[in-house]
Amino acid sequence: MNVNDITEMTIAELSAALKSRKVSAVEATRACVDKIKNSTLNNYITVCETEAESAARAADEAIARGEIGALTGVPVAVKDNISTKNIKTTCASAFLQNYVPPFDATVVEKLKKAGAVIIGKTNLDEFAMGSTNENSAFGAVKNVRDVARVPGGSSGGSANAVAACEAFAALGSDTGGSIRQPASYCGVVGLKPTYSAVSRYGLIAFASSLDQIGPLARTAADALTVFKVISGRDARDTTSSDAPSLGSVLDGNIAGKTIGVAEQFLSGAESGVAAQFDKAIAAAQKKGARIKKISLRSFDAALAVYYVLSSAEAASNLSRYDGVKYGMRAKSFTDVADLYAKSRTEFFGDEVKRRIMIGNYVLSSGYYDAYYLKASKVRTVIKREFDQALSACDCILGPTAPTVAPEIGAQTDPAKTYLSDIYTVPVNIAGLPAVSVPFGEADGMPVGVQAIGKAFDEGGILNIASALEDSAKGGAAC
Ligand code: GLN
Repeated sequence: MNVNDITEMTIAELSAALKSRKVSAVEATRACVDKIKNSTLNNYITVCETEAESAARAADEAIARGEIGALTGVPVAVKDNISTKNIKTTCASAFLQNYVPPFDATVVEKLKKAGAVIIGKTNLDEFAMGSTNENSAFGAVKNVRDVARVPGGSSGGSANAVAACEAFAALGSDTGGSIRQPASYCGVVGLKPTYSAVSRYGLIAFASSLDQIGPLARTAADALTVFKVISGRDARDTTSSDAPSLGSVLDGNIAGKTIGVAEQFLSGAESGVAAQFDKAIAAAQKKGARIKKISLRSFDAALAVYYVLSSAEAASNLSRYDGVKYGMRAKSFTDVADLYAKSRTEFFGDEVKRRIMIGNYVLSSGYYDAYYLKASKVRTVIKREFDQALSACDCILGPTAPTVAPEIGAQTDPAKTYLSDIYTVPVNIAGLPAVSVPFGEADGMPVGVQAIGKAFDEGGILNIASALEDSAKGGAAC
């Protein structure tokens, strides 16, 4: 089999080929590594060639013994803000350019236990703050569909690696859309699980009350496979919960399901994106789903609430980078305060500094009530409204992002860039699961449709994704 024939398989296809010994894990791993080495997309910060080779050998031995786990021999990439034992974990920050964690994140432990081969660490916006992957100390990522465009962010390397067949799946993290928006820009499936469904132990924190780890994959079924492996309660993350009970297959049967459509989730969408979304609605109806118009009045406040709360939490989480404990240290300084200031000035990028300043401002004694406290209260209102809306329907459907992937260098106003998260951030505020699934194109680039579900209904929204995926591919309903 040639390299492309192997790397373009889904996880389901690769697993079957491994099981029947048509392909070996070593071959699949080498095929991915070769692709990465010949790639100019900059999806990876670190390629774990040696470790991956030995994990692949172990997988082949396990297969020979008949011990086959859910991901045995499958090359998977991991976003570089998720800790990997003895492998550099940089968060795409100059501050952590040499940081090597002494432990694996729980999700990485679980991937390894399921037999996955960790192929490398993917590029991102520094500390996961951004929507274009341009805020990386390791350079921008080029979208595989058009190298003049961004892959989205912050999990840009993860989404683009999966789209470019440089991995069969990848882990990303989603605080305000960082799995779903790049999935939409790159044309892959991205699942942001219910808050607490996946352990955050070992995820380098951005905003702890919003962060969730989730899979990016080429099909909804593959995303389900990875989600099942990584989810579940973990004693090392006290916010984690038991995994939802999920079937092993998605049948794409959505007949009789009620899909909520809120006009707010269409505000500001480019015409090409809106047109694809209309087609997605028609496809869902053709498959027997009922459409119900709903309204989420607090939607307009969500973006502001998100940037207040996430920046406040980021300012607190990032205070540990001071040049003393770990990370880089400025070479010359006069005293401790000067050491902190010089290290942070030199090693944090502009966007991270902006978030720290916003965060400290909204937490400062004179402004705490007006910003942080107010945003926390509005968060409760948003959550309540989503729960209420979802009590009358099975999911809420909308576009994942208002536009397709913009060109590299085109986003110069941070406030405008923040607008690309307008449809994704409310979901993190409400703590709910959501999936982005590719549905057609606009301007020659992929468009994503987002299905938002009830807490722990990952199975339900992935089934909707599977139905839409079938329609988008020209399945029976089209
Ligand atoms: N783009 C958003 C931000 O910059 C979301 C990031 C994320 O989900 N990690 O905050």
